[in-house]
Amino acid sequence: MGIKVAKFGGSSVADAIQLGKIKSIVEADPSRRYVVVSAPGKRYSADHKITDLLYLCRTQLEHNVGHEQVFQVIGDRFRAMAMTLGVEVGIEKELSIINENLLNGCSADYIASRGEYLQAKITAAYLGFDFIDAAGLVKFDAKGRFLDEATNEALAEELAKHEKVVMPGFYGAMPDGSIKTFSRGGSDITGALVARAVKADVYENWTDVSGFLMADPRIVDDPAPIENISYTELRELSYMGASVLHEDAIYPAKVMNIPINIRNTNDPSHPGTNIMAEVPKSDKIITGIAGSKDFVAISIYKSSMSTQIGFVRRALSVLEDYRISVEHLPSGIDTLCLVIAKKSFNGKMDEVVEELERRLNPDQIIVHEDIALVATVGWGMASRPGVSATLFNALYKADVNVHMIDQGSSEMNIIVGVSNDDMEKTIRAIYEAFSSHNLNA
Ligand code: ASP
Repeated sequence: MGIKVAKFGGSSVADAIQLGKIKSIVEADPSRRYVVVSAPGKRYSADHKITDLLYLCRTQLEHNVGHEQVFQVIGDRFRAMAMTLGVEVGIEKELSIINENLLNGCSADYIASRGEYLQAKITAAYLGFDFIDAAGLVKFDAKGRFLDEATNEALAEELAKHEKVVMPGFYGAMPDGSIKTFSRGGSDITGALVARAVKADVYENWTDVSGFLMADPRIVDDPAPIENISYTELRELSYMGASVLHEDAIYPAKVMNIPINIRNTNDPSHPGTNIMAEVPKSDKIITGIAGSKDFVAISIYKSSMSTQIGFVRRALSVLEDYRISVEHLPSGIDTLCLVIAKKSFNGKMDEVVEELERRLNPDQIIVHEDIALVATVGWGMASRPGVSATLFNALYKADVNVHMIDQGSSEMNIIVGVSNDDMEKTIRAIYEAFSSHNLNA
């Protein structure tokens, strides 16, 4: 029998009803031996995430505003969950220790981690699994940098001693025992680390959506689900803003070639999306489309640019001096286009353009602000003729003016720069062009 690691996100552990669903999921497959949980998330859209409330308590104390009310709300959610599920985990004692630490000026990382800690205690008791704290196993150095190797060793050694485990996500500890968290959403990382340490066959990431969709459902009506996606394709799409999984959760699974299966706790029979190194061959041409707004395209024209040694380097050195990273760099014989996220300029765009003029002495510089980038991603594009034709024909028909084109060297993506206002229209046009293609393929 294989091993599955199941990580349940905030909405999957939001209340006792959700915990009931988790129990059925875990018990339906005995290979689900290692469970990682987030802190309770929202039960409905106006609700609060426990992690946010925990941070808030500390901020209130810092500003000498009473934290009792918010702490009571947090405590009541855990009390209600434990009571409804009929588990005894010494919740009052745990809460009073946390409150004591709050009053004694605990760190933000410590307080944020308590949601996962308490949730793991309750979940372990409810499932009848061993509770293992992440503090001694997920390791950070004294400066708070994550220690990958040491963590893998510690997790592998400890988890091998247990048949069935629930572990809190999101945090670990530094050498002196003080708690350190990953960035927000970091329970996904813990799940991937556990999967790597136990050499899992699958890392299941249970959330409130049935995997990834080919496009944002707020833009495209009823987009098709993505059944399989490669790590690289996902990286391209998440970079453009399509996010379900924490970015750093990919690599621990990737190094061991462990597929990640995104699943929906509220619809467990849906197969979700599989993220893996190599996707099985299919007729699909594209895997997904994602867009992101607010970029600036600086087009630089200079005759005989291609014969000038060091021209591109000089352009990039200006950006380096201003500590600005460039997203894309499409170029022509006598043109170079720098595509940069608007926020990276920190209000210094005019200064940067002047500096480019001074150092490059170009014939002309044209700045297009308010550019959206739309990435069309898919391994299926590489080997097929006519993909660009289909894409650009669709944009032409939709009356979209394309300011910039960049095709990755892997031929796995085509990125177009359009006006911010045209982004939705662009995504819809591409989706429609390729979904009929996909269906007819
Ligand atoms: N509870 C943490 C957060 O809200 C970590 C997580 O859920 O993954 O960011």
